[in-house]
Amino acid sequence: MKILCVGRNYIEHARELNNPVPKTPMLFMKPATALLNQGKPFFYPDFSTDIHYELEIVLRISANGKHIEKEFAPKYYDQVALGIDFTARDIQSQLKEKGHPWEIAKAFDHSAVVSPFVGLPVDHANGIPFELRKNGQVVQSGNTADMIFSFDDLIAYSSKFFKLQQGDYFFTGTPAGVGPVQVGDVLEGYLLGAKLLHCEVK
Ligand code: ZN
Repeated sequence: MKILCVGRNYIEHARELNNPVPKTPMLFMKPATALLNQGKPFFYPDFSTDIHYELEIVLRISANGKHIEKEFAPKYYDQVALGIDFTARDIQSQLKEKGHPWEIAKAFDHSAVVSPFVGLPVDHANGIPFELRKNGQVVQSGNTADMIFSFDDLIAYSSKFFKLQQGDYFFTGTPAGVGPVQVGDVLEGYLLGAKLLHCEVK
């Protein structure tokens, strides 16, 4: 399986990192080895001193497809989870400056925490609220209604380049409020007000 991701899909988050708002989805991927199933602690890697959390809504791809038209995109995902796209911001900044690919900052082992999946809310087109608490304090509060590119836009666009396969995951971008984690932090993700994700940094 693969993990597709989109960067800068919420305007306020693009601005907080001084990035332009994209005209087309900015895609990247993480390999299957990036997956950290929830409940397992995230061990702070020794190659970075500035690991950031990014809470995101994750789609589970439910069918194989390529060149999917936007109107048929809803047939290709059926469940949602919360995920944390752990990012080595210090390494990413150095790579961005040089115009280099940023895999080592984004796709390293256990950089993708994924909660259990739940059924897609029937009225999800009206927006899904989600929230991240760090040590009990709300640090990110987002709503999918604020995405620049919708779930269907992301499915249609990404499938022009990459065949989507049943069981793939899609990280759909993070809202504003990203920030660093320290050893000892506890991250909790809430979807529609219910706690779904728990991750300790060790
Ligand atoms: Zn992200």
